[in-house]
Amino acid sequence: MSERSPLPDGPLAAAGLNRQHVFDLAALPAEITATLGATAGFRQLILLGHGGKRLWECVQAAGGAGGDPIDDYCARVVADWFAAELPGRRYRIVYPGSVPVPLQQLGTLAGWHQPTPFMVGIDPHWGTWYAYRAVVLADTGFCPSEAVDRAHEEVPLGGSNPCANCLEKPCISVCPAGAMASSGFVLERCVDYRKTGQSQCKHTCLARITCPVGSEHRYGDEQMRHAYSHSLRMIERHR
Ligand code: SF4
Ligand code: SF4
Repeated sequence: MSERSPLPDGPLAAAGLNRQHVFDLAALPAEITATLGATAGFRQLILLGHGGKRLWECVQAAGGAGGDPIDDYCARVVADWFAAELPGRRYRIVYPGSVPVPLQQLGTLAGWHQPTPFMVGIDPHWGTWYAYRAVVLADTGFCPSEAVDRAHEEVPLGGSNPCANCLEKPCISVCPAGAMASSGFVLERCVDYRKTGQSQCKHTCLARITCPVGSEHRYGDEQMRHAYSHSLRMIERHR
């Protein structure tokens, strides 16, 4: 690999980590680097994500086992990728992990994240059907990625946030908890509703599945059940 070459994304994408963004650590805002722990010996931060159904299919094909099958699978993919593509390069996975990495801030810098009324990120291509899967400190010298806004021409009028051009905003009216009925998103309403016996959102988010943007990338039933069962367990554990 020559210095400042692009990140070799083919193996990652084939394994389901089909969104990648390379940051030079020196160019990141100090409040972000402060969350990463010791960064000595590392030059870059690699943000990995998935869009659509591909990652879930890969996790299932790999057996889908482990405490958290997606996190465990992604850690293996990252380890295999470094071993095959970057032997000898140091790296450390900081997310998933014990430190609170500001994923949406990184996603905003990468051009992946625009806020929706229900606070999940959205972009014009994937809609809300993407997620952050790994953040990796690395002793690499790849060419830093361009933010999506600047890298693609097909950003619609009104900028890269599809919500700016969505006049009906059906996600707001369909929410059975009325979590967006007043100004802003009231998390308590969503959480309290999800815990009720008659909740229609135990294993889904009606607002999210109603959004038409990127609907061809919408997760399948199993993937939705996995994601929302996990978040419901977190809610029930901590509230
Ligand atoms: S339905 Fe409209 S306002 Fe709601 S998330 Fe989708 S694009 Fe945004
Ligand atoms: S999970 Fe249900 S209650 Fe919460 S925002 Fe989505 S639609 Fe509303």
